[in-house]
Amino acid sequence: MSKRVYNFSAGPAAIPLPVLERAQAEMLSLDGIGMSVMEISHRSSHFESILAGAEQGLRDVLNVPDNFKILFLQGGASLQFSMVPMNFLAAGETADYVITGFWGRKALTEARRCGNVNVIYSSADGGYRTTPEQAELNFSKDAKYVHYVANETIEGVEFQYDINGSGIPVVCDMSSNIMSKPINWENFSLVYNGAQKNIGPSGLAVVFIREDMLERIPKGLHSLLDYRNIAENGSMANTPNTWAIYMVGLVCDWLKEQGGVAAMQTRNREKAAVLYGALDTSDGYFTGHADRSVRSMMNVSFHLPSPDLDERFCSEAEKNGLDGLRGHRSLGGVRASIYNAFPREGVTALVDFMQDFAHRNG
Ligand code: PMP
Repeated sequence: MSKRVYNFSAGPAAIPLPVLERAQAEMLSLDGIGMSVMEISHRSSHFESILAGAEQGLRDVLNVPDNFKILFLQGGASLQFSMVPMNFLAAGETADYVITGFWGRKALTEARRCGNVNVIYSSADGGYRTTPEQAELNFSKDAKYVHYVANETIEGVEFQYDINGSGIPVVCDMSSNIMSKPINWENFSLVYNGAQKNIGPSGLAVVFIREDMLERIPKGLHSLLDYRNIAENGSMANTPNTWAIYMVGLVCDWLKEQGGVAAMQTRNREKAAVLYGALDTSDGYFTGHADRSVRSMMNVSFHLPSPDLDERFCSEAEKNGLDGLRGHRSLGGVRASIYNAFPREGVTALVDFMQDFAHRNG
């Protein structure tokens, strides 16, 4: 095997090496089946148990209560920007959106195609560095739901609390911080994510939906855009992404071996503290994007004194085995994504490189 680099990419992102090794070992022939997981029928009992295993893995790891359905869907997290309003926001109805970054804006654009949308908070003016206090949120009368993004992957801004909808269903995009810490399910009606950060390969979305929400869905939606239909068909309304679902099962097994999400949270905090520490002790050479109180444990976005230096930093880092550090095209700068699978040694290697770079280019 050629040398593996440290992969700081925001997603598709690093997958735990033991998971890749197990997938490699099972690639040609699953134990007792004699075929690759990608070759077996999704209607076979073999795949049914893989699907059930992936679902159970998520239930175990995230302590998902029985009154939540877990759905495996295609179209990534972006399709959820559309499915949420298609299922829960009819013309003439209102939903509240809290905008703390790029992905919240994308969700807003799609919701506006369906009904009235009130932006009850936006940090646009300050350049998306903050989240609101709960007390700042005034929900619309009769809002069908309130939507927010728990961790804005590009800006590196993470809610430090769960929004309390005061009786309004809370819908949350947790694409980039799911599985990084425990979830208090009482606070949510629907949680969704694209799998390609902490759960597995891209192209798969996982939706956790409280059962009573299914009863609110209007009749007559297109079948594959209807959560109720997907739920009734056990995520097999059409051929699912069998490979990605298999990988989710393996990632959950790995996570359990690591001590679960609580242990992950401790490790994630430690990794993030090392990296933010390097920003804060750089005498302003590296400047973090997010306000300190809402810094993301998963995506550390920062910049150097000039865009030229940002670019030089990223390309030199790449040559040193530190890959995927370029910031998103909408923000520029540097972004280090340090999801569950990202090793602590990689963070230390980045910090060493940062100090050396600042020394040479300060
Ligand atoms: N929401 C968030 C918070 C994201 O980070 C991303 C992707 N980076 C998306 C949504 C979109 O995901 P996908 O590309 O799977 O549609």
